[in-house]
Amino acid sequence: MNNSKELYDLAKNLMPGGVSSPIRAIDPFPFYAKFTNGSKIYDVDGNEYIDYCLGYGPQILGHNHSYIKQAILNQLEDGWIFGVPYELEIKLAEMISDAYNAIEMLRFVSTGTEATMSAIRLARGYTKKNKIIKIEGGFHGSHDSVLVKAGSGLASQVESSSAGIPLDFVKHTLQIPFNDVESLVKTIEGNKDDIAAIIIEPVMGNIGPVVPDDGYLLMVRKITKEHDILLIFDEVITGFRLAMGGASEYFNIVPDLVTLGKIVGGGLPIGVFGGKKEIMSMVSPSGSVYQAGTFSGSPCTLSAGIATLDFLKSENVHEKLNSTGCQLRSALSDVIADKRIDYSVSGLSSMFKIFFGEFPHNYSDVLKCEMNEYLKFFHRMLKGGVFLPPTQFETNFISFAHSDEDLQKTIEAYQKAL
Ligand SMILES: *Cc1c(COP(=O)(O)O)cnc(C)c1O
Repeated sequence: MNNSKELYDLAKNLMPGGVSSPIRAIDPFPFYAKFTNGSKIYDVDGNEYIDYCLGYGPQILGHNHSYIKQAILNQLEDGWIFGVPYELEIKLAEMISDAYNAIEMLRFVSTGTEATMSAIRLARGYTKKNKIIKIEGGFHGSHDSVLVKAGSGLASQVESSSAGIPLDFVKHTLQIPFNDVESLVKTIEGNKDDIAAIIIEPVMGNIGPVVPDDGYLLMVRKITKEHDILLIFDEVITGFRLAMGGASEYFNIVPDLVTLGKIVGGGLPIGVFGGKKEIMSMVSPSGSVYQAGTFSGSPCTLSAGIATLDFLKSENVHEKLNSTGCQLRSALSDVIADKRIDYSVSGLSSMFKIFFGEFPHNYSDVLKCEMNEYLKFFHRMLKGGVFLPPTQFETNFISFAHSDEDLQKTIEAYQKAL
């Protein structure tokens, strides 16, 4: 068997950057996974890591969970793609709709990217308006209208953050900083009656966690309502993570549309977008906003999703995770205080991170952090047996499988690595 470095050298000839998604291209080479179990991921080089990356969000119960695995195995007996409706779609749709006040009707898709792309198209179709607002540093997947360069909204010309996207596509996307009500009001005033929706991660997971200031999300809800702008909560990370009803429940807000992914598929590929019947009825075939997908509502994904939501609810997982999260964040704050370094701990529920700088409120705050120091720290943690996301920009997650012993080891690793 090849080791990680040898495998990466082979992969680089076959796949751009050697990987299937850019974040995985860890310098100088990523470790190759062999298998996972509970809170741990094991590599082909014989190392064991306590995992706080957890597949970037889906594995809230930990890896290779027996209850989810059994659900998938049972499904395999009956087949894994049908091309016709399947009863489990109704079951999972009911569970999601029960958890979310905002969701009366929904569509299953295969990724979070598809979910936000379709929700934005639906918002434009429903409101008959063109522009959308997104938050700087907010990540909504890899489709054209959300790949806008941060800061470019302030310049006269909006720029895309990727080559290959015509300016005509991104000129309809306006960007504002998180936690900034004034910018929202100004942007709405400057684009009177042409804004279909604002899409927002209620807790910014892809640059953080950067948490909303008190009352911010409520103001966003109030202002969007006053201007007939649809509020899209991108809960691909926060959905079923902060509570059964995600950030919507946690902050007691009812958005117009919600996008989900990650946890709701139990670790298999999924996306969901949903909202009020009146809006969702516009989706094809009942309405004129087109959306379709071969793998949408895939049976194994549905089974894994149902099992996950079932377990989350019946075992009061969020209660435990919320208290584990508090415990860990407070221990990390103590480590920083002991060492007298000017870093900060952010997060809520089972999301956490040490920022190598001041406590951030938006994307430009995060950019001020010591990124290179973070990278060195990441490698020291890895050597210490703890796998964190390899950039200052991604949130860390705790799973139901993380034990007190894991946490103790983790805190010791932080003490050494910092
Ligand atoms: C991961 C993520 C997406 C994209 O989901 P994919 O399944 O990777 O396409 C969209 N929005 C948010 C907030 C995410 O974290």
